[in-house]
Amino acid sequence: MARFVKVGSLILVVLIIVYSFAVTHPSNALSHKACTSWEMIKDKSFMLTHSGSKAYKVNKLPAGFEVKPGTAKEVPVLMYHYITPKADNKEPGNKSVINLEAFEENMEYLHDEGYYTATLQELEKYVLGEISLPEKSIVITFDDGYQNNYAYAYPILKKYGFHAVIFMIGSKIEKQTVLFDPNKKSSLSRAEIEASRDVFEYHSHTFGLHEKGFPKCGQSKSLALNTTLLQKDIKKIKAAGIDTPYLAYPYGEVSTQMLYYLKQNGYRMAFTVRQDFVKPGAPLMKLPRLTVTSVTNLPELLEHKITPKEAMDLNSL
Ligand SMILES: [Zn+2]
Repeated sequence: MARFVKVGSLILVVLIIVYSFAVTHPSNALSHKACTSWEMIKDKSFMLTHSGSKAYKVNKLPAGFEVKPGTAKEVPVLMYHYITPKADNKEPGNKSVINLEAFEENMEYLHDEGYYTATLQELEKYVLGEISLPEKSIVITFDDGYQNNYAYAYPILKKYGFHAVIFMIGSKIEKQTVLFDPNKKSSLSRAEIEASRDVFEYHSHTFGLHEKGFPKCGQSKSLALNTTLLQKDIKKIKAAGIDTPYLAYPYGEVSTQMLYYLKQNGYRMAFTVRQDFVKPGAPLMKLPRLTVTSVTNLPELLEHKITPKEAMDLNSL
């Protein structure tokens, strides 16, 4: 108890210092800094008052863990969203839209190189150090659940015997299948989800929180950061049939509080949009991915000849 009082008074003192500094030195950068410090303090006090919340940020590998020779040292988790033939692509500058031709080339390359497309359950065990994966392993993911993932990606993935993941926005699932129109941003229907389970596994991208509107330090962030909304949303996505321990954060945005409530509700692994490869021992609730655009040179990215940031640079378009 005495320790909490001590920490509490320390937080109060830091708060007063931060605020008096911000008030006496008003500038945008400074008030932003004050807000960020305030967020850090809130995080710290949340961790102190919610037991175990700090533990969600670490992943301890088994004692003496080593990557076995000839097995995967890292696993790239590729991130795609919307697929459209180049001729129909009205947004060539949008990183979330990839030309079908480029996607096809990506898949052909992975197949020719003998890549193994892992499931999320395998990835989870791999990150925990419980299993090894083939040296050339990869996870293919799609966010949002567009109908074109079924119309365009599914046949290609099936042809190569590949497995992939779709992070579905629950509220967007169509009750009735609509006729596919390449010029419309339509979503997958319940029947299409069922029909494509031989290739895709479906997980959460929240039910209805894929929207901005949560104010944080002068910015509008993902609504999923509102933990009251989040807790209701978790029930909704489960009721929509996506009852899963895996999730992709809308816009990749996550907070300590959000992470805590997800863990409390059975989520064990989640993905951001931080650009990196996944390695054993990585914090499971904050796994990075690699954005693949129409101009990404996938072989160079996977061989580390270019950085993930360079790989998604659309300036060359
Ligand atoms: Zn999304």
